[in-house]
Amino acid sequence: MPAYFAQGQRRLLENVSMTQPTAPKMNLPPAPADFGQPDLAWTQRYASLGEDFVAPLSPSPLPAPYWVARNDMLAHALGLASDWGCRDTLLQTFSGNQLPPGIIQTASVYSGHQFGVWAGQLGDGRACSLGEIAGLEVQLKGAGPTPFSRRGDGRAVLRSSIREFLCSEAMHALGVPTTRALCLTGSDAPVWREERETAAVVTRVAPSFVRFGHFEHFSHGQQHAQLKTLANYVIEHHYPECRQASNPYVALLAQVTQRTAEMVAHWQSVGFCHGVMNTDNMSILGLTLDYGPFQFLDAYDPTHICNHSDTQGRYAFHKQPNVAYWNLYCLGQALLPLIDDQEQAVAALETFKTHYPQALATRFAAKLGFAQAHDTQKPLIEAALKLLAQDRVDFTIFWHRLSHWAGAMHPADTSVRDLFIDRAGADALLTQFHALHDHNDGESPASVSARMLRTNPKYVLRNHLGELAIQAAKEKDFSVLQALQSVLAQPFDEHPSHETWAGFAPDWAAGIEISCSS
Ligand code: AMP
Ligand code: MG
Repeated sequence: MPAYFAQGQRRLLENVSMTQPTAPKMNLPPAPADFGQPDLAWTQRYASLGEDFVAPLSPSPLPAPYWVARNDMLAHALGLASDWGCRDTLLQTFSGNQLPPGIIQTASVYSGHQFGVWAGQLGDGRACSLGEIAGLEVQLKGAGPTPFSRRGDGRAVLRSSIREFLCSEAMHALGVPTTRALCLTGSDAPVWREERETAAVVTRVAPSFVRFGHFEHFSHGQQHAQLKTLANYVIEHHYPECRQASNPYVALLAQVTQRTAEMVAHWQSVGFCHGVMNTDNMSILGLTLDYGPFQFLDAYDPTHICNHSDTQGRYAFHKQPNVAYWNLYCLGQALLPLIDDQEQAVAALETFKTHYPQALATRFAAKLGFAQAHDTQKPLIEAALKLLAQDRVDFTIFWHRLSHWAGAMHPADTSVRDLFIDRAGADALLTQFHALHDHNDGESPASVSARMLRTNPKYVLRNHLGELAIQAAKEKDFSVLQALQSVLAQPFDEHPSHETWAGFAPDWAAGIEISCSS
């Protein structure tokens, strides 16, 4: 067992002090006569677990909402009518003003470790669930206070909501497991952060928003019956294959370990820094969850810290795999009362040490144009990352240019070499790349290049691109946001009218500070 697990355990025992959530009295407005789509079959599976799990809410009206952005592809997948964007009822619903018939809005309770320290009870402080359509849960983020808001206002500002909306879909298009974003609505209602901002609501969608922190909540509160109910719920709906296992809870832990390892390997392969990997932001489904101070790397700096509030660099880019492993140990500890066998729990968790490197090797093999990972690729990957870090080369641009370079592998093409200060180092790297492909069953450079171009995006949501969309949106111009949304939905394609968005970050990008406050 790693030393930090033992430390974590001590700390948990010292700090367990639970305040149980208090459910408010039901005070729901009458269901509207017309939701616009009576045929949509809503369920409230998670909410049906009862008051130990969720608190019912009354809607907090968001004055005069307007659409900021919509995601038609996801709307279609959910079964929304093609004219959904013209329906005022849906605008009101996705702003938190009007509930679908028969739906009770709920907030769920969870706890968690924040920055490595047990934080006790947290819960959905500004997110509420409307239930599920077609097995996908629909949550409104920023729709007003809940019993778990503590001192917060339950709101989200337009700035951070644009970032969450764009990034969820950008990650999905990159093939990274993530929660999705259906739409973004705004209002001129003021919200106070460091300065006066305006309110927005992101409607996000996922098979489940259950977090590691939900398990920690019931485990640390010694509510083992509820812990079991939660685990059985997650197994039944999301990991049915675990039901047959001799110990379903160990099987669950092993599955979550594998999915989390794969998610973080994806992050590392596209240069995504989450920024606040607290256990309450870790999805039990291995989805990227809670987009806050995230960042796609510009220049490759493995020690990059994207969250201005993370003064110790706990969530620096290169620490993400280890933090995921640490967080999985918190989940393992939370599940221990059900697993009832520490050795088996540790064995499930330790699979991270094989899953993560395997998943990373698979991703980097594809980035380098190989159909399969092989040990012979390791020296090339290490050499590439070392040189990128040494010269602080732009991560996305390097991989994209290399993908094109691979089509001919000709020294006269200096597009990759030109990215480096150390030209001799770059030449050696390209020679190494060429040699390894020569040994690779004679696959044509064109097909290697094509594979790489399907893996190495041309467009990622760099901080400064998000900032362009935010600044325009503050002036009520949502066209930049919408154009960015459509480019990022096809990040591997050429978008000639938006060539500059594939370029280097401007100098002012370094001055953008993103913290936890949003
Ligand atoms: P986050 O840092 O966004 O993951 O949030 C951590 C916790 O704080 C969660 O329980 C959130 O629901 C809660 N929280 C964050 N912002 C607010 C807010 N404006 N109002 C109420 N609760 C919030
Ligand atoms: Mg969170």
